[in-house]
Amino acid sequence: MTERVAGALQALVRIPTVSDRDPSRVDTDAFDRLLVELATWFPLLHERCEVTRVGTHGLLVHWAGASADRPVVLMAHLDVVPVDTDAPWQHEPFGGEIHDSPVGPAIWGRGTLDDKGCVAAICEAVESLLEAGHVPAQDVWLSFGCDEEVSGTAAIEAVAVLRDRGVTPWLVLDEGGAIAGGAFPGVKAPLGVIGVTEKGTTSLELVAEGRGGHASTPARNGPTARIARAILRVEKSPFPASAPAPTLELMRRLAPHVPLPLRPLLGRAEQLAPVVTRALLAAGPEAAAMTRTTVATTTLSGSPALNVIASTAKAGLNIRVMVGDTVAGVVEHIRKAVADDSIRIDVIESGEPSPISPMDAPFELLEECIGEVFPEAVATPYVMMAATDSRHFTAISEHVYRFAPFRMTKAQRQAIHSYDEHIGVADLLDGARWYTLLIERLPR
Ligand SMILES: [Zn+2]
Repeated sequence: MTERVAGALQALVRIPTVSDRDPSRVDTDAFDRLLVELATWFPLLHERCEVTRVGTHGLLVHWAGASADRPVVLMAHLDVVPVDTDAPWQHEPFGGEIHDSPVGPAIWGRGTLDDKGCVAAICEAVESLLEAGHVPAQDVWLSFGCDEEVSGTAAIEAVAVLRDRGVTPWLVLDEGGAIAGGAFPGVKAPLGVIGVTEKGTTSLELVAEGRGGHASTPARNGPTARIARAILRVEKSPFPASAPAPTLELMRRLAPHVPLPLRPLLGRAEQLAPVVTRALLAAGPEAAAMTRTTVATTTLSGSPALNVIASTAKAGLNIRVMVGDTVAGVVEHIRKAVADDSIRIDVIESGEPSPISPMDAPFELLEECIGEVFPEAVATPYVMMAATDSRHFTAISEHVYRFAPFRMTKAQRQAIHSYDEHIGVADLLDGARWYTLLIERLPR
């Protein structure tokens, strides 16, 4: 197992499958080569399972089990984000080299953690079980997207295929959480965080228009001034905070592991929700984002020249919608905060939050496997801040979870979408072992 899963991941990392919103800028040859590489490393998977192409280079794999009553979908994505060539990578980003690291020998490069590590570990689990003649208790589907990083449509197509075939997954598992070390101040144990919902990504544009004209004769209250005022008003009107159920459950599960003075508070997180919410708000932007919808002003535009008054000024707002809120409610909140009828609000992209998946049998199976492979970790639900392809699967399954079975230090998590991304070789192996166990434990 060792050599194959590590070798496969190295080979996958060496192929720069960078996705792009503009299809003409995608190196389709790289994606073609990646699919060939996968078939080379995992021949039984490709021979014994039914492999369907979805989207341009996505794969939907069907491994028939003893029963089709409670099918499971294991997800990952084949594409990666680009590499900033000015960033100080210690090792070649598309080299897939093995070098020492703080977590021991590691495979370095773009996609090792996000998300080719999952691709390799899932394929390794299936391949080794096929070699052993294992028949899963339930149908196993693999859904590997090719455009996750650009919010593409391959996952939507995969959902359409499954729906056509009458598949209602008992469990959908995608990237997201991890065995996260150093996740909570004062807590030594790593957290096995399982995303049970994810925030919706919505983008709005505030638009102010005016006459424009020569900069030597400015009028008061022009488009740029009105946009500036609107931005400040939005900033001064944060969304109401209220820690949602998964956040409170996370606090409750953390209670035995936090420093003594904090234990009674976290242990009764549900009853003390307002206090917990206030504490999270005070604990910095990351913790605060766990309690409410957030707004970041990102893009700004005004006049194209220094001596021209803008006839149009715009500000882009990137909004992460918390479960419980809606896009319509968010637009209303922003409209009220801006309180200026001369400013138009355009919805550029609209993404609702995903419903909260329950903590029943499928969740318990994930917990059980975490307990076995990562006994040191505290398994817990949480609200994911980022978006994954799995949000599309909430249309066909109530049980959608986001968890990659890899130990990740804080530094490793920060390397995702940044530089020096790497995965410990031993951690990759444990991840493959975890997926293997999950498939072995599927209920009859
Ligand atoms: Zn990803």
